[in-house]
Amino acid sequence: MHPRNAWGGWIEVVTGCMFSGKSEELIKRLRRAIIARQRVQVFKAELDDRYATGQVVSHSRWRLEAERVRTAREIVDRVDPRTDVVGIDEAQFFDGEIVAVCTHLANLGKRVVVAGLDMDFRGQPFGPMPQLLTIAEEVEKAHAICARCGAPASFTQRLTATQEQVVVGAADVYEARCRRCFEPGGPAAQPELYPPEEEEADSLEPAP
Ligand code: ZN
Repeated sequence: MHPRNAWGGWIEVVTGCMFSGKSEELIKRLRRAIIARQRVQVFKAELDDRYATGQVVSHSRWRLEAERVRTAREIVDRVDPRTDVVGIDEAQFFDGEIVAVCTHLANLGKRVVVAGLDMDFRGQPFGPMPQLLTIAEEVEKAHAICARCGAPASFTQRLTATQEQVVVGAADVYEARCRRCFEPGGPAAQPELYPPEEEEADSLEPAP
């Protein structure tokens, strides 16, 4: 199934919007590697502290122990030479150095499995994800279900008005939307959809 070969490492990226099952897919791939008796190390950005510390936790509550790092470079420092598979979750939160780190690890012969959001709440490419998608040998783009209409969803809709790129949260702050239902930037960024209420609508008498 995987084009991974015996003489070299490689990079695979699982991406998509929130609630698309990225973390489940990452966990599934890493669990299979563990079952195959490969040495696996998992890293995630320090920033994301939803649900638990030191674990990759999907929205459906699968979990896997993870080492928390502040910078991409720390991953290189912490990877054991014997490690076969390196998992990286929430890759969108790392700076551009994560691209060189993944390349370095793959060149060392390791299988690098990366999960991350492809777009932010404005529908713009998120952090280093475009570069990671480009250099990866394999990319899987996962879809969620639009919370408005039920269509396949690729966008992360923020439900609050803040314009910060990173607001940590889950179903209380975000939902998945399809392209038609997506409101880039959140509800407050939208122009007024309806004209102001008519005043003095109480008289049905024709004007004199
Ligand atoms: Zn929709």
